[in-house]
Amino acid sequence: MSGVGKGIAAASIGNILQARGLSVTSLKIDPYVNVDAGTMNPTEHGEVFVLDDGTECDQDMGNYERFLGKDLTRANYMTTGSVYLSVIQKERNLEYGGKQVEVVPRIPMEVIEKIDRAMRKAKATVSITEIGGTVGEYENILFLEAVRMLKIRRPNDVALVLVSYVPALGAGGNELKTKPTQHAVRNLNSVGLHPDIILARANNSLDAKRREKIQYACSIDKRDVISAPNVDSIYEVPVNFEDDGLTDRILRKLDLKPHGRDMKDWRAFVKVIRSKKAAVRIGIVGKYFGAGDFVLTDSYISVLEAVKHAAYALKREPVIEWIDAEKFEKNKAALKELSKYDGVIIPGGFGKRGVEGKIAAIQYLREKKIPFFGLCYGMQLATIEFARHVAGMPDANTTESDPRTKQPVIYILPEQKQNVAAKNYGATLRRGAYPAALKEGTIAHEAYAKAGKSFVIKKNSKALVISERHRHRYEVNPDYIGKLEKKGWVFSGVSPDRRLMEIAELPRKVHPFFLGTQFHPELKSRPLTAHPLFLAFLKAAATKK
Ligand code: GLN
Repeated sequence: MSGVGKGIAAASIGNILQARGLSVTSLKIDPYVNVDAGTMNPTEHGEVFVLDDGTECDQDMGNYERFLGKDLTRANYMTTGSVYLSVIQKERNLEYGGKQVEVVPRIPMEVIEKIDRAMRKAKATVSITEIGGTVGEYENILFLEAVRMLKIRRPNDVALVLVSYVPALGAGGNELKTKPTQHAVRNLNSVGLHPDIILARANNSLDAKRREKIQYACSIDKRDVISAPNVDSIYEVPVNFEDDGLTDRILRKLDLKPHGRDMKDWRAFVKVIRSKKAAVRIGIVGKYFGAGDFVLTDSYISVLEAVKHAAYALKREPVIEWIDAEKFEKNKAALKELSKYDGVIIPGGFGKRGVEGKIAAIQYLREKKIPFFGLCYGMQLATIEFARHVAGMPDANTTESDPRTKQPVIYILPEQKQNVAAKNYGATLRRGAYPAALKEGTIAHEAYAKAGKSFVIKKNSKALVISERHRHRYEVNPDYIGKLEKKGWVFSGVSPDRRLMEIAELPRKVHPFFLGTQFHPELKSRPLTAHPLFLAFLKAAATKK
């Protein structure tokens, strides 16, 4: 079921196989009709992750990239909607040669084709395909049918892993119950499938008795029942899987020959996570915190992970707190709370709600010299705050929040206007990787000068050009650039044609760290290669006076 940790399990299996020298790629299947995740509110679905090629997808794709340390593409993601869309397009193009196009086998065959294509594209020996949803529900039945067909075609090339929840009940609350797992297996059996491996997700480790119970009740070798207990950090999961023998079981089943074994760097990273470290306190001012039992951190999962990667690289314990932007609108005195943080992030967002609260927070952080990092909307709002309170433009705003503002410092690009007018919202934002040239002598330049090739695409004595991922519709209005710069606002990263402002900052002599990016740096941060700007921000936070 959702939330049980399928994404982390799938990502971790990729990680441990890759550590054995195999070429791995990961796919996610989301069983909803949306063609991609771009049209969903973060409180509905969690964060929308963006790939280099602009694909807007599920946050699990972020987990795969983080656990594999690799960039994925559109080929690695499908939804019910996207699979049907391809089949319908083929039908319209007469690619089925005049035949009646039936749901079965056409839809499962399309799924298989997509998996094959992703493997070819990534030149992968192994692909891990995660099927969202719960076994037995209507939504994913055609994807399970694809697995069944694939198993018939290549019986020795497919291993089916069931991630099952094993609840703890009983008087002490620690009696693990295998009944739901038995039912899940029966549901799988009813669609012609049997798991090769069962990952038993539980609060605690599985004991010998429970393993045996699953062995007999579910007709599976007990060595193929892998214990997946709760962990403090998701990054421990690959290490646990490896130590519990999962890698060897999968290799054996698929008859794969490993090339070496190397989890050294990952184990060292996990050791840092487990060690005692001095805290660094980071506040995140946002608004997608949802209602009821929605896990608020899901809306900003990549931001959260990026903070952790950078903190661990500096051997600090990240302590992250969430602050609702709207509270600063009603109560200015609440701004004082921001002083208790070593640094504050204003992440991406859409629409009018919470905007004035975020601007109030930014003003406070600027004036009190508290390290500030703005991501996308955060950068746009920092530019507005600077325009209003330093550059003498009291009406400065974004047309997203006030379409009639007299000083549209942030505005919509003419080409984007047409999309909005036509209600053409799906996949029409400025998305994916774009280059930016950095200005020497700035915080941004200094940070990226030390960064590796996953961030920097050109580096010589004259230029430093980076590549970062975007997802937005609005931009800094070129009419105001000169005026802002004259007052000390520095555009330290710009598009190569100089039309689009990509990074804005205040010089270090004015503020210890006050920087915003039009792109989303959090999407490219990886456990073993923290993002250079998050590193610079956390360094400033860790040394805050
Ligand atoms: N709402 C802003 C825009 O569309 C910022 C988007 C974001 O933060 N991802 O430009």
